[in-house]
Amino acid sequence: MAFVDEKTKINLPQFLASLVDFIIPPACPVCRELVSGHAGVCASCWRDLDFITPPICYRTGVPLAEDPGPEGAGLAAMIRPPPYHRARAALAYSGVGAQLIRRMKYSDQSELAAMLAPLVMRAATPLFAAADLIVPVPMHRWRLARCRFNQSAELARALSRLSGVPMQVHILESHRATAQQVGLTRAARRSNLRGAFRVRADAKAQIAGRHVLLVDDVLTTGATVEACTRTLLRAGAGEVDVVTLARVVMPETLPV
Ligand SMILES: [Zn+2]
Repeated sequence: MAFVDEKTKINLPQFLASLVDFIIPPACPVCRELVSGHAGVCASCWRDLDFITPPICYRTGVPLAEDPGPEGAGLAAMIRPPPYHRARAALAYSGVGAQLIRRMKYSDQSELAAMLAPLVMRAATPLFAAADLIVPVPMHRWRLARCRFNQSAELARALSRLSGVPMQVHILESHRATAQQVGLTRAARRSNLRGAFRVRADAKAQIAGRHVLLVDDVLTTGATVEACTRTLLRAGAGEVDVVTLARVVMPETLPV
């Protein structure tokens, strides 16, 4: 009878990771400063990360100057309610946070995604508790080829592993190539994205009446996650929440 001694069995991925660490010591993904122990952001870059903390708008997750009360929304969300139920982000998209996201886009970031996933979990715990399914924002094929990695899917995979909420990568797909969103007005962005996403015909049963948690790396104007949300709701999803690693934070000015 074959007998495997659990103590001597080598965990191959872990062994290879420590071998790589031995050859290439782990460096801070932002400043490339060498860090001791497991790979991560160095202490000085960590201090410069701009975490989003309450008070925030219950709907959009944007930081507010004053506490809006339980489930209170900010002015922007009251004027123009988003199609999703709630959105949360761990970091403000600026400085070190923005550098991290860029690093995620253009390098092998499965390790980086695993390192950053707990920050997203912490910022959005109730959203994970309510979710039936995690769905990443899809990336168009030509862009995927250029960047090599789909950072939203990597982040979604890490979040699924951490939260235990199942992930489905192929629910949403890019329907057509869209023009670059940069420099477009909100209305132009929205029409640029109209029809940009669709739910795969064979995936509709998986989202019918379900609570979907949509994952993207960054929320800028929100046009992309809003377009994905509308597509999911139209295809029968019960409710959609959104989590991103970072979001652009613009001061919400209140009329006096
Ligand atoms: Zn650093």
